[in-house]
Amino acid sequence: MKRCLILFLSAVAASGATESAAQSSRSSGASDIYVPREVQAAYDNGTRSEDGHPGPEYWQNGADYRIHVRFDPLTGDLAGRETIAYRNNSPEDLRNLVLKVHPNMYRKGSARDMDASPEDVGDGVTLDAVTMNGEALDPSPGAGEVSHFLNGNLLVIPGPIPAGETAAVELEWHYTVNRGSHSRTGGVETTTWFNAYTYPRIAVYDDIDGWDLTAYRGTAEFYNDFGDYDVTIEVPEGYVVWATGLLQNPDEVLAPEVSERYQAALASDEIVHLVDSATLASGAVTAMAGPSGMNAWHFRADYVPDFAFAVSDHYLWDASSLVVDPATGRRTLIDAAYHPDSPDFYEVAEVARNSIDYMSRVFPGVPFPYPQETVFNGADEMEYPMMVNDRSVPERMYMVSLTSHEIFHTYFPFYMGINEIKYAWMDEGWATFGDFFITNHLHTEEPLRLFGVEQWETDIGGWNDLPIMAGSGQARHPAYFHASYPKPAFFYLMLRDMWGEERFRDVIREYIERWNGKHPTPWDFFNTLEDVSGEDLGWLIRPWFEEYGAPDLAIGAVDREEDTYRIEIVRVGRNPVPIEITVEFEDGTSEVLNESVSAWKDGVGTHTVSVPARGEIRSIVLGNWNTPDANPADNRYPRGD
Ligand SMILES: [Zn+2]
Repeated sequence: MKRCLILFLSAVAASGATESAAQSSRSSGASDIYVPREVQAAYDNGTRSEDGHPGPEYWQNGADYRIHVRFDPLTGDLAGRETIAYRNNSPEDLRNLVLKVHPNMYRKGSARDMDASPEDVGDGVTLDAVTMNGEALDPSPGAGEVSHFLNGNLLVIPGPIPAGETAAVELEWHYTVNRGSHSRTGGVETTTWFNAYTYPRIAVYDDIDGWDLTAYRGTAEFYNDFGDYDVTIEVPEGYVVWATGLLQNPDEVLAPEVSERYQAALASDEIVHLVDSATLASGAVTAMAGPSGMNAWHFRADYVPDFAFAVSDHYLWDASSLVVDPATGRRTLIDAAYHPDSPDFYEVAEVARNSIDYMSRVFPGVPFPYPQETVFNGADEMEYPMMVNDRSVPERMYMVSLTSHEIFHTYFPFYMGINEIKYAWMDEGWATFGDFFITNHLHTEEPLRLFGVEQWETDIGGWNDLPIMAGSGQARHPAYFHASYPKPAFFYLMLRDMWGEERFRDVIREYIERWNGKHPTPWDFFNTLEDVSGEDLGWLIRPWFEEYGAPDLAIGAVDREEDTYRIEIVRVGRNPVPIEITVEFEDGTSEVLNESVSAWKDGVGTHTVSVPARGEIRSIVLGNWNTPDANPADNRYPRGD
């Protein structure tokens, strides 16, 4: 997500990414979708293709991280050292390396588009040592050897890193993790923490924009290259660590009984209570530490775009595993760690398991790509590779929606390495669409509405209702929210409605097949949709993604011709949407008719629907609660009903 941000931050000013505006208007293919010059250059250079495949010259850089962290859960003090192997696969020699230091969002003077508790604002990250290819550099801002920009949010280390070569970077740093202003990361309560963005990382250098020079300010999310992570986290005895990656040394860090249960969960379809209240009461959760009093938790994760970890000394822990790929028998360990008083987390491991089963078998029908998924009872609604930081929520339906939403992000933006800073809709629309189906599948007591449509309706057709591309890449809340969550989710919904479940899934799977482990842009997505479906989709993509406008249908003339009613539907707004009408006859019977959005394919302004007449019409209602409409007053017949 983060989905909850909109609930209390919708009025906060945000600053968008520093993307360069395209100066020329070009188009590709028959659909006439707008192509910025950076994307056209990628076609011309052969790194991407107009048919939606990665180009013959496609490349991306990557970095492997070996990290050692020491964390004090009483103070929040974190000290780390890391060795990064950065591969320059680009055809250019890089003069410098750019690093991002996200915790410096809390540094005094940093621009933020969210509030920060005064106690969290301080000196930020102190760099204790920087080494580039074996050469030690003075990391202090005054020395001039490492350049500090935007209050240390960006660091530049001199290269060069010639094309095709690998640079070795070593860093040591320390800082105090934010405790009072939990935003995606930080203190949860007393001795519980969800720690993300804890390590300086190499920014992405790609074929579209070169270096990504945006600083993290709180709203816009992230963009990371893929790499292998080998991370050791030292915490005091009694604290459990959950993290991205499989735990490599359960015997060394868990109490013998908990370690046995952990091994059992790796092969168990049933939920195993690794730590229950009796275990907590006994105090025998972790292994006894040596003289240092610290346990070192070792995790490894292959080919992931980020790493996060969580810590607590008083959480319950449930786990089981699931065969996610019947062809190979590969299992995923699925676990939930939570506060004993949480009203909903006792069920989360089961819901997470059922969600991952749905994802692997039904939609997208791609085996869950990771060996592990932990849902941690934190203080936010946020996704990481193999980790989720979710707060407790009071309603079961919302718990299912939240759990499935965050886990669904595994595919986008992690398995598909999406630039969320520029194209937040690519992963938020996806996760919103996915949690809609999974929740309505797993929680059948009441229907879930497409997340965010209600908020969007308050602004629909107004100043804050921006084209998806502009809104999710450049705008502030609430325009950012509407453009990133409900609008693209609704676009997915329209495609599924138009193509049918199976064909839609096949097209999406082909997109995933082409771009997993890479960095797809919106144009790679659009081109793939058109290439695989064989359809020109400009009539649908242009109004939703590029142009100002809103969905607004109205009931026009209603005429009876003998046994048939002809009901005219008028497209008042520019954005095409599916047609659903419910006709009620005087005899009390009713009829529901659906037409997909393709009714508007030819750019027409009206569309006529025919209904067999069973006597006089009492009423007609146009639309349904998942289909937004800027002016619902004209969706009823007779008017003023
Ligand atoms: Zn999300």
